[in-house]
Amino acid sequence: MTAEIMQQAEQVIAKTYQRFPVVLETGSGCTLVDTSGRRFIDFVAGIAVCNLGHAHEGITRAVIRQAQALWHVSNLYYTVPQVELAAWLVAHSFADRVFFCNSGAEANEAAIKLARKYFYDRGEKGRFTIVAMEQSFHGRTMATLSATGQSKIRKGFDPVLPGFEFVPFNDIQALRDKVGSSTCAVLVEPVQGEGGVRCPDADYLKAMRQICDETGALLIFDEIQTGMGRTGRLFAHEHFKVQPDIMTLAKALANGLPIGAMLASEKVAGAFGPGAHASTFGGTPLVSAAALEVCRTLVDNHVIEQGRKSGEYFREKLEALQKRHDCVVEVRGLGLLLAMELNIAGKSIVDGCMQRGFLINCIQEKILRFVPPLIISREEIDALMGCLDELLGADTAVA
Ligand SMILES: *Cc1c(COP(=O)(O)O)cnc(C)c1O
Repeated sequence: MTAEIMQQAEQVIAKTYQRFPVVLETGSGCTLVDTSGRRFIDFVAGIAVCNLGHAHEGITRAVIRQAQALWHVSNLYYTVPQVELAAWLVAHSFADRVFFCNSGAEANEAAIKLARKYFYDRGEKGRFTIVAMEQSFHGRTMATLSATGQSKIRKGFDPVLPGFEFVPFNDIQALRDKVGSSTCAVLVEPVQGEGGVRCPDADYLKAMRQICDETGALLIFDEIQTGMGRTGRLFAHEHFKVQPDIMTLAKALANGLPIGAMLASEKVAGAFGPGAHASTFGGTPLVSAAALEVCRTLVDNHVIEQGRKSGEYFREKLEALQKRHDCVVEVRGLGLLLAMELNIAGKSIVDGCMQRGFLINCIQEKILRFVPPLIISREEIDALMGCLDELLGADTAVA
C-alpha cells in the first residue's frame, strides 16, 4: 500500500513538495506511525505546528464536541468560540483586537493591508512602504512573497508587489538609514525561522521599536513560527520586552487545524472597518474551539515552562555534540526553536535520522532545525542525541 500511495501521489499531486518516502498514518504524543508500522519520534511537529503533540486528548475532545454542535457559519453572525478565542488572545497579549483567517500568509496579508489602510485613513496616501529583513520568510502569496527577503522564494514570480524594501537582520544602523517618512511599517520575525533560526541581538528589537516611534512607522511582529510557546514564552517578543503594533499568528495556534490571526492595538485596528477585509472561513467555530483549548492548555497546564526547560536541556546536549564534532559550526535558537548549523550538507543526516526512527528537518541546506512538540521528554531528546552523535561521527570520519 505504501509504495502505491507514493506512486499515485507522484501522478496526481502538484509537484510543489520534495517528500520523504514515508506515508504517515497515526500519531500520539511525539510519536508518528507510518503505513508499514514503523515508528518515528517527531522533532518536526508539522513545522512548529503540533506544539501539544499528536492526538492530544483535551484538544481532540474539544474538536469532537464542537463538530457535533456547529462547524461553520458566516462571519455575518457571532459565535461563542470565536469571541472567546479573541478574548483570550487579547487578555494574554498587547493587542486589543483580533482578525481571524486561515494561514500564516493570510495573517501577514491582513497585517500588510491594515498597515497601509492605517496611513491611508490618516491622509498619508504615499506612505505605503514596508521595510522587511533579508533572509525573512512571511509566506507564499503575492504580497507575502514580496515581503520575503529570499530571492530563491521570489524567483519566477516577478513583478512582485511594489513597496517592499529590505535591510540585513540585526543591523540597527541599516534600519535607521532605511526607515523614514514614507515607511508605513517595519516587518520582522522576532527569531527568523525559515531563514535559519537566527536570533536577534539583545538590544535589536528595542532599537527597532525606537526607530518606529521616532518616524511614526508601525511595528509588525510575525510570530507565526515563534508564537504559542515555541520559544519558551507565549510570544517570543516577551523575551525582549518590546511590544509591536501588529502581530501575526498561525502555525501552532490550533495545533494543526488551519487558522491564522492578526492582532493589533486599538489605535491601528480602527483602520479595518466593515468591508475593509474579510475571510469566509476565518475563525470558524470548529477551529476556534480547537485553538481556545490549545491556548488554555498551553498556559493553564504550564506546557510553555515545560518546553522552555526542555529547550535548555536540548540546547546543552546539542552544544555537547558541537564540541565532539568538527562539522558542527554553531548551535543556536530560543526555547524549542533550535538549530545546528553544519559545514556539510544536512540531507544525509536527516535521511540517517529517519532510518533510525527520528524525524528532523533541514533548512538552507546545512542547518538542522529542531522544533518538536513542547511536550517532548528528556528520554526522547537523549535518544535523538545518540543517533546524531553516531551520524555526525560517521560524516566526520568520511570527510
Ligand atoms: C510558516 C510561516 C509563514 C507562512 O505560514 P503559512 O501558514 O504557510 O502561510 C509566515 N511567516 C512565518 C514566520 C512562518 O514561519
